[in-house]
Amino acid sequence: MQKVTNRGIHLSQFKEPAISAPIKSISNVNCVYLPVSDDICVSVSQNIKKGDLVSNEILPEHIASFASINGKAVAVRKFNCEKFKDKMFLKVETDGTNQNENIDRFNGREVTDSDLYFAVNCCGIINLTDKKTLKSIYESYPDGVKNVVIDAVDDEPYVSSKISQLLFRKNQVESAVDAVQRLFRAQNVEIAVYGKNGDVSIKLPSKIGKYPVTAYNKTYPVSRAMKSDEDTVYICLSAAMSLYYAAADKKAWTSTIVTVAGDAVLEPCNIEVPIGTSIGDILSFCGVKKNVGTVVLGGCMTGYSVDILDIPVLKSTKAILAFESELKYTSDECIGCGRCVDVCPENLLPYYIYRYYLEDNKERLYKLSADKCIECGCCSYICPAKIDLRQYIRNSRRALLKEMRQNEEDTKAN
Ligand code: SF4
Ligand code: SF4
Repeated sequence: MQKVTNRGIHLSQFKEPAISAPIKSISNVNCVYLPVSDDICVSVSQNIKKGDLVSNEILPEHIASFASINGKAVAVRKFNCEKFKDKMFLKVETDGTNQNENIDRFNGREVTDSDLYFAVNCCGIINLTDKKTLKSIYESYPDGVKNVVIDAVDDEPYVSSKISQLLFRKNQVESAVDAVQRLFRAQNVEIAVYGKNGDVSIKLPSKIGKYPVTAYNKTYPVSRAMKSDEDTVYICLSAAMSLYYAAADKKAWTSTIVTVAGDAVLEPCNIEVPIGTSIGDILSFCGVKKNVGTVVLGGCMTGYSVDILDIPVLKSTKAILAFESELKYTSDECIGCGRCVDVCPENLLPYYIYRYYLEDNKERLYKLSADKCIECGCCSYICPAKIDLRQYIRNSRRALLKEMRQNEEDTKAN
């Protein structure tokens, strides 16, 4: 049975120096699990090369999936895990030819416009800021766009998978931002970072090449500013890097960078791994203490605990956290502190939404605007009673949106 923790792993449980260490890299993993749909393009027992298309139409974004190592397809499987229950994966075993790549090979590498168009159209790049494909965003702006913001915000405490690239891969970041500016023919480009990084003291660069780095402290998440500005496009750093690497390499970029931390990890770090590498392989590489009580996939606000360690990391995986202790699970006992109300960026009343969700009181949920929740996880994170508010509010929001759609359809039909 899958255990799902409450979110809200507090900083006292979570000291880590990952941000100050150069990015590590592994390529020579034994196997990967690649996301696939029914529109799979390879058969079991087929040999495949890194960058080969393995599947079209991975929902919900309808993107393609590409091989992240050289090897042989050996099985299609699912995982007995609540969060992965509707997903299928192709297991690919290494053929032994996967070498660690030196990322510096990209330094100063020029890309042509046709390289960029190939990357944006054929390499399944997803913009994690709004969960749209880079291709669809590009096609929405046939005349270009005035402003581009590169979203390098690590929006959970101690996750540093984006900011570490600004610190340790400046040359590649500059080339990637340049590629995005050219693609969108943007006049102004800035790189947005989060100004507060827990209690870790780091000096961020004020510029990467000619591009200013702007620290946001209050707006959380930064992409909320998108709502009112039609002249600005927000592109996540991961999509920008994927665009540049794919254009420079002339094949899809199939690695991702995750933060590995927590008090059970021997060497907390940011690490570049092939998409589909299992959590277990990554933890083994980083080293863990003898007794690991809890493993969390994702950050300390929105992550969830897993007890199956062959679950793979995907492009959207920000972090893997391993703790010595068994973290406390969801409780229902509100102590009335009001902190969830103070932190909600949408000015909602999380505790009351949670309570009326349990009572199935839709009328109240409408009045409390539960559908406005952006699922940021701040309320769960801050709650001292460790109530998993975000999960309940997510369910309320989905139930409300479903009912609103149904009402609209009924009105049209009448
Ligand atoms: S998850 Fe929703 S309710 Fe909770 S703080 Fe974020 S926006 Fe507010
Ligand atoms: S933060 Fe938790 S304990 Fe405090 S009011 Fe909200 S639900 Fe209750």
